[in-house]
Amino acid sequence: MEVRRDLVILFMISLSIWEKESFYTPQDIVIVGAGLMGLWTAYELKKRSPQLQITIVERNTTPLGASTRNAGFACFGSPTELMSDMETMGTDEMLRIVELRYQGIEKIKSHFTESSIDYEYCGGYECINQDSRYWYAFDDRVSQLNKLLKDITGQRSIFKYAGQKMSGLGLMGFDVLVENSSEAALHSGKLVQALTQLVRSSGVNILDGFHVYSWEADQDRSVITSTNGISIQSKKLVFCTNAFTDSLLNKPMVEPGRGQIILTTPIPDLPMKGTFHFDEGFYYWRHLGDRILLGGARNMDFDGEQTLDMDGSETIKNALIDFLRRHLHPSLSFEIADSWSGIMGFTKDKKPYQGRTEQGYYVALACNGMGVALTPMIAEQIAGTVLQDF
Ligand SMILES: Cc1cc2nc3c(=O)[nH]c(=O)nc-3n(C[C@H](O)[C@H](O)[C@H](O)COP(=O)(O)OP(=O)(O)OC[C@H]3O[C@@H](n4cnc5c(N)ncnc54)[C@H](O)[C@@H]3O)c2cc1C
Repeated sequence: MEVRRDLVILFMISLSIWEKESFYTPQDIVIVGAGLMGLWTAYELKKRSPQLQITIVERNTTPLGASTRNAGFACFGSPTELMSDMETMGTDEMLRIVELRYQGIEKIKSHFTESSIDYEYCGGYECINQDSRYWYAFDDRVSQLNKLLKDITGQRSIFKYAGQKMSGLGLMGFDVLVENSSEAALHSGKLVQALTQLVRSSGVNILDGFHVYSWEADQDRSVITSTNGISIQSKKLVFCTNAFTDSLLNKPMVEPGRGQIILTTPIPDLPMKGTFHFDEGFYYWRHLGDRILLGGARNMDFDGEQTLDMDGSETIKNALIDFLRRHLHPSLSFEIADSWSGIMGFTKDKKPYQGRTEQGYYVALACNGMGVALTPMIAEQIAGTVLQDF
């Protein structure tokens, strides 16, 4: 049994009999967190067992973590990021996770029309410079990746050199450009909105503004209580709270990593179309209509960005602006129109986590910065784990 008591109860509400017997009636499964992981998990559970009563609780009026604050890349890994993953987790694990990401993107495409989530087959690129730690034998490394990914993507060379396109895209200051024509962009807000509608229409209740303050769980019975003292009982309890999990569960499972984003004003005649990566994925940018959305630079200050605080840092924001000024052709002038940040969840081995804990509750989290693609598939795994125990 686990109890958490570090937040302040704001006020206590006496529920009416009507509320007790409708919104807050005991459930088969309660999921905490209505980000992509919580939503896909509810969807999978309901699809496999339509008779289950499922409620998702979300502390904010809309999800507030990473799912609606990301860059909207439908990507499965840029070359240097995959080279780094091979070092961190080994080739087999790297491939297993790439395959999950690839399948996750296919699943998104099969559930939503392109227009409903602004899915754009724009292609993706990685920009590489000679000071990359993977520059040595770079050709060989790319060939190796192409061979390894062939069975997953069905393409002989998923990564192709495309240096000739650099100036036509309005870019400068990179030594090499590698193209992945399978990569795409989407609208993260519209994706979460469409998925929310799909989940609700399958019969799942979603309670927004329910901030879980304390909870108890054992193998067959759980209860969560909100900051205003409302409780819901369930047979199973699943936490999809990603970066916010450690303080809620009072145990170390995931490290937060803030991702900051800047958005330019419209740039007349912007030639850039696509999603772009640099430096093992630490910088990423894309066109958004005639604007550029650029994020990253977390590696400039890992310690400072290991935070749940959504107020961005000026240092990172300035580094992003500086990056854009250095790499966008000077004929393309811009101002910064907007900026925001979101919080990702990371594990040391860069692998996502799903499973049942000894205490009897379930956890699915840590897509390590690629949850658009990964959450649809990790949700299938956690749904299978939960249903095994019914
Ligand atoms: C800046 C940035 C850029 C990114 N770019 C991309 C990208 O281009 N492509 C890609 O694939 N991935 C990207 N990601 C990663 C991706 O967005 C995440 O991996 C994914 O959204 C994680 O989803 P989640 O549901 O696990 O977490 P979240 O979206 O963080 O959801 C967790 C939810 O739990 C809720 N919650 C927390 N505590 C409680 C509580 N006590 N009570 C009730 N509710 C609670 C939160 O409010 C939140 O809504 C990016 C992330 C960031 C931050």
